[in-house]
Amino acid sequence: MERLIQGFEQFRREMTAEHRELFSRLASGQTPHTMFITCADSRVMPELIFNAQPGDLFVYRNVGNIVPPYAQHVSGVVAAIEYAVTALKVQHIVICGHSDCGAMKALQNPAALKGKPSVEQWLKHADVARYVVAENRPTILGEEGLRYLTEENVVGQLEHMRTLPAVAAAMANGSLRIHGWIYDIAKTEITAFDPAQGRFRPLVADMPDATPHARFSVRLPVASAA
Ligand SMILES: [Zn+2]
Repeated sequence: MERLIQGFEQFRREMTAEHRELFSRLASGQTPHTMFITCADSRVMPELIFNAQPGDLFVYRNVGNIVPPYAQHVSGVVAAIEYAVTALKVQHIVICGHSDCGAMKALQNPAALKGKPSVEQWLKHADVARYVVAENRPTILGEEGLRYLTEENVVGQLEHMRTLPAVAAAMANGSLRIHGWIYDIAKTEITAFDPAQGRFRPLVADMPDATPHARFSVRLPVASAA
């Protein structure tokens, strides 16, 4: 705890004038452009790796970067997505998995979940990845198997996210784009899901995201009570 407090004191001492100005500007509201959903793993630091400033990213983290499908149960992540899309009007949502993920390793080796009933229950939302890999790449084990599992989990969670009505509505009019990424901790590299090719490719600025075509060109007017 002492390290945390010392760290905060150091942060305040060394804060630049620009940061001070930014914090006072942000005190009355936020308009983040992107919601970033990733794993709780301490090695994944979105603000650090994207060189992001306070106010840029609406970050949500949980074990395994999971988004339960709509109506199955109301979870913190589902509520946060709804808020990000309807109130903050984020333009992008990224679901980002990572290398050496403990949650994905537990999917590979369910014995590791003994004595962790809540984690076990939570990881049922990642069953889609386990089944897809078990059915289609049953002979690929170890690190390579873990990579496929991590990728399929991101693809599966993107599908879950599309079942949320707020997400589906914003994607239908083109105001929201969704992205599935994997962050490699050791290499500091990101690969992104390219739905046209059905695989993950190194992230570059002009690569297509995981959003299907919009069906409406503008937001539908909201009916007025008057
Ligand atoms: Zn993880």
